[in-house]
Amino acid sequence: MKNNRGNLFVVSGPSGTGKGTICKALLEKRDDVVLSVSATSRSPRPGEENGVHYFFLTEEEFRNNIDNGQMLEHAVFCGNYYGTPKAYVEEMLAAGKNVILEIEVQGAMQVRAKHPEGVYVFVMPPSLQELRERLVGRGTEALEVVEQRLKTAEREFGYIEKYNYIVVNDDIDAAVNRFSAIIDAERCRMERNIEFIKEVCEG
Ligand code: ADP
Ligand code: 5GP
Repeated sequence: MKNNRGNLFVVSGPSGTGKGTICKALLEKRDDVVLSVSATSRSPRPGEENGVHYFFLTEEEFRNNIDNGQMLEHAVFCGNYYGTPKAYVEEMLAAGKNVILEIEVQGAMQVRAKHPEGVYVFVMPPSLQELRERLVGRGTEALEVVEQRLKTAEREFGYIEKYNYIVVNDDIDAAVNRFSAIIDAERCRMERNIEFIKEVCEG
């Protein structure tokens, strides 16, 4: 079957809504999905490894990567740089993988301008109260950073209509199943199967 290029999925949503948890579960469930490893200038959290969770760079290294044209997109989020290295994404799409970028809204809008064929998924918390509890419960940020991230969440909600799907993360298994269903549905879109249709119909 021709047309084996993978699809690009961009996942956003407020900090603490469960994007990382969902993506990790999805990777365990499906071998046709890969996650892009972002670069950031923020400090590693306990347990985070360079090259696995992020490429941890200094601000100077990060700016050099931008200047060298290595980033598909980049943004400043709560005072730190974050960005997607371009090469891996291109390589994996060409290899037929579904590539997930787990990125905030400003970066997602840059990707959308370059990749209108991508699929844009916004992960919603079941409520703002639950979002706060998850962010505090994760225990990875000081309380003032939690407040900053919750404030940022209000701005992020303003971008929802730019996305194709919302996935509510009430129950983790249900949310992962919904995301997985979106991946399958997108694979079945007529316009993503033009080559295959031709092959069958024209013999
Ligand atoms: P994000 O990547 O969006 O910042 P995380 O994946 O780190 O969010 O999740 C934030 C916290 O919420 C983590 O402690 C995680 O274990 C927890 N969490 C994620 N999904 C759920 C869920 N469906 N129900 C309850 N807690 C959840
Ligand atoms: P965290 O510090 O919690 O790991 O991430 C903070 C925010 O940065 C999250 O909303 C996350 O999706 C976003 N983020 C992570 N990597 C990237 C990236 O490569 N580009 C952009 N624009 N945002 C990112």
